[in-house]
Amino acid sequence: MQLFHIAIDGPAGSGKSSISKELANQLNCVHIDTGAMYRAVTAIALRNQTPLDDVKTYQFLESSIFEYQKESIYVNGENLTDMIRDKTINQHVSLVSSIEYVRKKLVDVQQIIAEKYDVVMDGRDIGSVVLPQAQVKIFLTAEIEERAKRRIHEMGLDIPLKQMIDDIANRDLKDSTRMISPLTKASDAIVIDTTYLTKEQVIQAILIEIDKRKRQHAKH
Ligand code: C5P
Repeated sequence: MQLFHIAIDGPAGSGKSSISKELANQLNCVHIDTGAMYRAVTAIALRNQTPLDDVKTYQFLESSIFEYQKESIYVNGENLTDMIRDKTINQHVSLVSSIEYVRKKLVDVQQIIAEKYDVVMDGRDIGSVVLPQAQVKIFLTAEIEERAKRRIHEMGLDIPLKQMIDDIANRDLKDSTRMISPLTKASDAIVIDTTYLTKEQVIQAILIEIDKRKRQHAKH
C-alpha cells in the first residue's frame, strides 16, 4: 500500500512541532521533527568546539545515526533532547542549517525514514524539498508576537517578550533568505494562520484536509 506523508512547514513558533506530534499520535504514524535534527548537529559541533562555518566540522555526519524515541532525539545512541533547546543553539542553528553538506546529509536521513513509514514531518523545506510528493502539505503561520509568547511558554523561559521576538525575527530572516532550501511555502500547500486558533482547532482543520485528500485519492 502507498505510504501517506504529511508535510508541515512554517516559521519558528508557528506551532509545527506540537501540532505535528499530536497529529501523528492521532493518525498512529511516525513524527519527525526535522528542526531537532539541525539543532542536534549544532549542539555536537558546539561541543566539539570546531568552527561552525567550516564544512570539515560536520564530518561526524558520515557515521552518525539519528533515532527518535517518544519525542526524544538520539545521535549515535546519545540522548540530546535537553541539550538542543538551549539558547546558544537558537543563536547558531540557522548558520549550521545553511551549510549545503549538512542539509544534504539530513535530507537523506529524512527521506530514508519516509521511504519506510507513514510520517508527519515538520520543518522549513519539507513540502518543497524533502517530501515534494507528500499527499498533504500544510504551511502554518502566526503573528510574531504570538509565536514569541508560545516559544517562551513551551520552553519555560523567563526572558522579556521583546528578546524572544528579536530572536525569532532574526532566525526567520536567516532561514528564509538562505541560498539553499529556504523556508518557503510549497505552491500546493494549504496556509493556516494559527494566531487566533487553539491547537485543537488547527488539528481539526488539518484532519479535514487529510480526509479530503484521502477521498480524492480513493476516487482515482
Ligand atoms: O523548528 P525549529 O525552530 O526547532 O528549527 C530550528 C532551526 O533548524 C531553524 O531555525 C532552521 O534554521 C533549521 N531548520 C531547517 N530546515 C528544517 C528544519 C529546521 O533549516 N527542515
